[in-house]
Amino acid sequence: MSISENIKKIKAEIPSEVSLVAISKTKPNEDLMEAYDAGQRIFGENKIQEMTQKWEDLPKDIEWHMVGHVQRNKVKYMAEFVELIHAVDSLKLLKEINKQAEKHNRLIKCLLQIKIAEEDSKYGLDVAAAKEILQSEELRKLPHVKITGLMGMATLTENEDKIKSEFSFLRTTFEAFKQEQEDFTTLSMGMSGDYKIALECGSTMIRVGSSIFGERNYN
Ligand SMILES: *Cc1c(COP(=O)(O)O)cnc(C)c1O
Repeated sequence: MSISENIKKIKAEIPSEVSLVAISKTKPNEDLMEAYDAGQRIFGENKIQEMTQKWEDLPKDIEWHMVGHVQRNKVKYMAEFVELIHAVDSLKLLKEINKQAEKHNRLIKCLLQIKIAEEDSKYGLDVAAAKEILQSEELRKLPHVKITGLMGMATLTENEDKIKSEFSFLRTTFEAFKQEQEDFTTLSMGMSGDYKIALECGSTMIRVGSSIFGERNYN
């Protein structure tokens, strides 16, 4: 199937209130334009330099999301245009995002990445650490960032029950935080292999790459 057919198929499967982020990392501009011509406007990348190049090259009504781990010294390259940063995992990073957003007089939306997979990934916060950031006085002094929800990645496994329990845990955490966070609207969970389970568990934003653009070739 073509990129545009893939997009139409996925759009038909997801509720209208769920956002689809097309993860276009490693893919050429032509592929992104095919998705764009099929109506897709939200694109996600995991490398700041690659995203910035694509932002320069492609139509300006595209909404760019950074879904990968963010190095603080590179925030400045995307501060002018990035709409949502999915994988924020420290107050230090939020401070840098705030500082760079201020230079462009912008408000940058961020999600806190929660570690839900059992895999020993380096990234993501536990619930207590996320709560500490959300409740910190320092966050109130950062008017150019807004934390609008949570993001998580499930364990890479065939075991659907396991994926389901990880996503359910994230949903429960999201709902609990939402009681106190008026800006909380977004729960980013679900990729090509597990977005159907994520939707069952209450995802509001799915990040789909290979099911739209085909397998990635990193060579
Ligand atoms: C690459 C990536 C995706 C998309 O992965 P697919 O399995 O190709 O859909 C989603 N989220 C993050 C954070 C990614 O890095």
